Amino acid sequence: MKINEILKKKRTLSFEVFPPKKNESIEFEKLYATIDTLKTLGPDFISVTYGAGGTNVRSAVEIAGYIKSKGLEPLAHVTGGPSSPEEIDELAEKFKGLGVENVLALRGDKPVEYDADYCKHFKHATDLLNYISKYGFCAGAACYPEGHVESETLYADLENLKKKSENGAEFFITQMFYDNSYYYRLVNEAHKIGITAPIIPGIMPLTSVKNIGRIKSMCGSTIPLELRNMIEVYSGNPEAMREVGINYAAYQICDLIAKGAPGIHIYTMNRPDTAAEICKRLKSVINEFFRA
Ligand code: FAD
Repeated sequence: MKINEILKKKRTLSFEVFPPKKNESIEFEKLYATIDTLKTLGPDFISVTYGAGGTNVRSAVEIAGYIKSKGLEPLAHVTGGPSSPEEIDELAEKFKGLGVENVLALRGDKPVEYDADYCKHFKHATDLLNYISKYGFCAGAACYPEGHVESETLYADLENLKKKSENGAEFFITQMFYDNSYYYRLVNEAHKIGITAPIIPGIMPLTSVKNIGRIKSMCGSTIPLELRNMIEVYSGNPEAMREVGINYAAYQICDLIAKGAPGIHIYTMNRPDTAAEICKRLKSVINEFFRA
């Protein structure tokens, strides 16, 4: 089912997984076991990331096929980046052949070094959205509560979000954030400039301290003082730190749902136990507030 249709009826609960780094069958079996566990949590869809430049075409297609075979809805990420139109056609045909109905159209992360020709065909997600519209997928796109790192101002980024919506994005999923007020500001400002597509908040439980440097360098998410303080106090005890991360994510979700978020997307980092623990703590919230 198309995600925009689900969103018209109810809030969505969804998870993100990524293909294994090694193309070994044992790694795929582990990921398939992860997907099997996530299925028990009743998601509306599961998204599968995609390496910029098509580095993992085969695995992304296989994983989307596995999700579909389990009676679940895959959301296949597609990155334009350095791909050619022919490569995008080939990938789109494969997804179509599997019955995939939903894609997340992205430019993709740029490598550290690239030449002027990089992203020659698909400079931005808007170009990819435009190009793949002929396939009739329900297309979503990414958005950034704290602004995309390449945008000079939040408002420049918002104007580009509007272009994504005008080029066919029917829903958005946010970059991770740890201070919900950034999300509320994004939603308010988006509404003010006429963006009506639902904006689904992306939550990444911060269960281990070694994530912090990575989060700051990758996406610049602000860590609020109260969370930073808990990390400093509890990080010496991995089990306690895990509880902090799960509880904080559960708190963020409760607040987001109370203030009207159209769904929740959990970045699972292929750790189904963490996603399961969050859902267990929020059993009543999920049962009551995610129903059709
Ligand atoms: P764009 O929309 O092109 O935005 C990039 C910059 O260009 C922004 O500053 C924006 O304001 C600006 N911009 C956008 N459109 C225009 C325009 N028409 N004209 C001028 N400027 C414009 N990366 C992967 O490699 N694989 C994945 O699977 C993946 N999944 C993701 C899922 C989510 C939910 C999110 C939030 C991010 C994901 N990313 C993924 C990371 C993403 O690829 C990077 O953040 C990338 O740097 C930007 O991608 P984008 O699609 O937002 O690009």
